[in-house]
Amino acid sequence: MAEVLVKKLHKAFPDGTVAVEELNLEIKDGELFVMLGPSGCGKTTTLRCIAGLEEETSGEIRIGDEVVSGLRPSQRDIAMVFQFYALYPHLSVKENMAFPLRAANRPESEVEERVAEAARMLQLEPYLTRRPSKLSGGEQQRVALGRAMVRHPKAFLMDEPLTNLDAELRADMRAEVKHLQQRLGATMVYVTHDQTEAMALGDRIAIMNKGNLEQLGAPMEVYNRPASLFAARFIGSPPMNLIDAEVTNGHLTAAGDLKIKAPEGLTRGQKVIAGVRPEGLTVSDGGEGVRGRVVSKEALGDETIYVVDCEAGLFHVRMPATARFEEEQVVAVRHVGAAPPAYDPTSEKVVSAP
Ligand code: ADP
Ligand code: MG
Repeated sequence: MAEVLVKKLHKAFPDGTVAVEELNLEIKDGELFVMLGPSGCGKTTTLRCIAGLEEETSGEIRIGDEVVSGLRPSQRDIAMVFQFYALYPHLSVKENMAFPLRAANRPESEVEERVAEAARMLQLEPYLTRRPSKLSGGEQQRVALGRAMVRHPKAFLMDEPLTNLDAELRADMRAEVKHLQQRLGATMVYVTHDQTEAMALGDRIAIMNKGNLEQLGAPMEVYNRPASLFAARFIGSPPMNLIDAEVTNGHLTAAGDLKIKAPEGLTRGQKVIAGVRPEGLTVSDGGEGVRGRVVSKEALGDETIYVVDCEAGLFHVRMPATARFEEEQVVAVRHVGAAPPAYDPTSEKVVSAP
């Protein structure tokens, strides 16, 4: 496998739409790299430029040691996987996997060898003569991956491959992708708009916004220290509480006198937006904290998410299931745990993070 470098990538379409502004990415050899962002932020265009399905307006793309600008898709040695379940139903597993090689007129001996190799690596040997419909979802996914593998690609590019599946199957398939990627040591660029999927899969996550890179980091980094309000809003479910606050005596203080532990390096009187995760707040019957009214609760089994209406806004609070508060109940909300990141209200960028 190989590393993939994207340098100053810019893509404007003939109608004037700028899909990618200026993008720099260094995807490491063997990395599962996730591109995450809302619809229209330029994920697919970036992937298509890497694959050679779209010509960049300017910038450079390197795959391994090779600058690929100007090379056709078939000359780039990469595999683009669209949807995992899009197999040819009338062909056997073996013929599905052989398909790209046959289409490229490879000699029969090579077809046999490559298919056997992929089948062995993906543990598909027992299923080679079956039709895809006789396989489980996970097995079908492995066949799709096998079909992509037979050409010995330098990298896999995946554009929202699990989008049309139901939630349960998606979670299973996600685990399988991660497992296979690790076992194969494959370089994988995986595009999704689903932050849960990105968090579960990525070695690193690139958060995209309007054709630009908003933040790049390991999942826990982007979760704990979103670099901007955009990233803060995008990662995490329920979303981060973004609370207007002012730096007072060693605290961030919000409306209703909610006290939040302050991160380092802020000055007294400074106005910031504190980014507090739902697990950074707690609800109690009374006592210390700001008063608020429970407007809704969602029981998730081991925990319950409360939405509490306080003077400083609507807060999402994550509590263990043992907590029992009712809708309409007046409660006290308090900040607990580490200091949250703080954002500048004007630039919307992080100014201090723990
Ligand atoms: P994503 O995959 O993140 O949803 P896309 O890369 O598909 O985003 O699209 C980025 C932007 O480029 C969008 O505004 C989209 O409408 C526009 N776009 C994509 N393809 C074309 C095209 N062929 N011609 C004009 N605009 C396009
Ligand atoms: Mg897309």
